[in-house]
Amino acid sequence: MHIKKQRLLTPGPTPLYPPALHAMMASDLHHRTEDFRKIYQSALADLKVVMGTSYDVVPLVSSGSGAMDASVSNLFSKGDHVIVCSAGKFGERWSGIAKAYGLRVTELTAPYGDAVKPAAVIAALAANTDVKGVFIQASESSTGAAHDVKTIGEAVRKTSAIFIVDAITGLGTMPLDIEGWGLDVVIGGSQKAFMIPPGIAFLSVSPKAWKMEETSDLPHFYFNLKKEAKNAAAGESSWTPATSLILALAEALKYVKSIGMAQLIDNAQLLAKATRAAAVALGLELFTPHSPGAAVTAIKAPAGMDSGKIVKGFRERFGAIIANGQGEMKGRIFRVAHLGYFDFMDLFAVVASLEMILDANGHPVKFGTGVAAVQEVYAEAAGIRQPVHVE
Ligand SMILES: *Cc1c(COP(=O)(O)O)cnc(C)c1O
Repeated sequence: MHIKKQRLLTPGPTPLYPPALHAMMASDLHHRTEDFRKIYQSALADLKVVMGTSYDVVPLVSSGSGAMDASVSNLFSKGDHVIVCSAGKFGERWSGIAKAYGLRVTELTAPYGDAVKPAAVIAALAANTDVKGVFIQASESSTGAAHDVKTIGEAVRKTSAIFIVDAITGLGTMPLDIEGWGLDVVIGGSQKAFMIPPGIAFLSVSPKAWKMEETSDLPHFYFNLKKEAKNAAAGESSWTPATSLILALAEALKYVKSIGMAQLIDNAQLLAKATRAAAVALGLELFTPHSPGAAVTAIKAPAGMDSGKIVKGFRERFGAIIANGQGEMKGRIFRVAHLGYFDFMDLFAVVASLEMILDANGHPVKFGTGVAAVQEVYAEAAGIRQPVHVE
């Protein structure tokens, strides 16, 4: 009946930056040419600027999980003892990968919606001096929780273990001082805050991590970090790179550099704050009240309402895709994304739509309640007027 524009509002894939999408149309180029080498090298240089590190940043043709896999298979040896901090579906993925390669895993878990406390990691490191690596999510996208990677990184740095951070939704949503905080491996993916389609992953590798690479004995062939890093330095890739995505990445990175990584992070954090304010104003419960991240806000569906109804309402009434919960959280929560190319116009629309969907499903809403909360957060941050309380 009415026009419904298609909108992708999930925490990955995220909305695409239009100039990056346009850049992909020039994909009829060969990767072993000077033209491509220039683009590849400048994109990788910009990636280091945006990630804020002088460490090697190794690109891979894969989704984020490929880089997670490569960080295990290239840096560890069979039987190595590692600690996995697990607070959601992605933490569980770390354990799955580590166990698949025959590592001995000590899991430190937090209930879904919470974060693993630095004190638990510090205690586990003290009790297990043979630990070779500590794995974590900077942002656990399945619950919206953020980990204190600064405190944990500073603790891991004092040991001989390396700290491997899945920052796939952490990059661009929280400050990450890779060298200052002892983050040995930091993993990113193209389809999150980098505003381009899925298919490229990348990871920064510290000298301490490269040292472990020298003695690693786990099997790997396609994902060979050392080989890839060496080739990347010369503007080459070990295998055929995802040329179209590299063109897109180069364009998106120009944009991120122009606004500044700090502003991209601030954008996500402000949208997250406004979303939390809207949820509370609408009488909804936050799923991660104690350690909320800024990549995505997970909100509990009202008692007795399946969150699938909310997801379906967005899709059927408004043509928008929002995320349900994953695994056991499916049906209980829905997730509003903030990472990458999201703005306040998006959020006004999301919250206004949410109000109507909740109301239509038996959670009465005075229309405008959540939207007003978002407006207040925006107006205060923009300095449009002083904070006032909505009645
Ligand atoms: C998206 C995501 C991944 C990677 O998932 P892929 O589907 O392999 O790209 C890993 N960790 C987190 C925290 C993520 O959000």
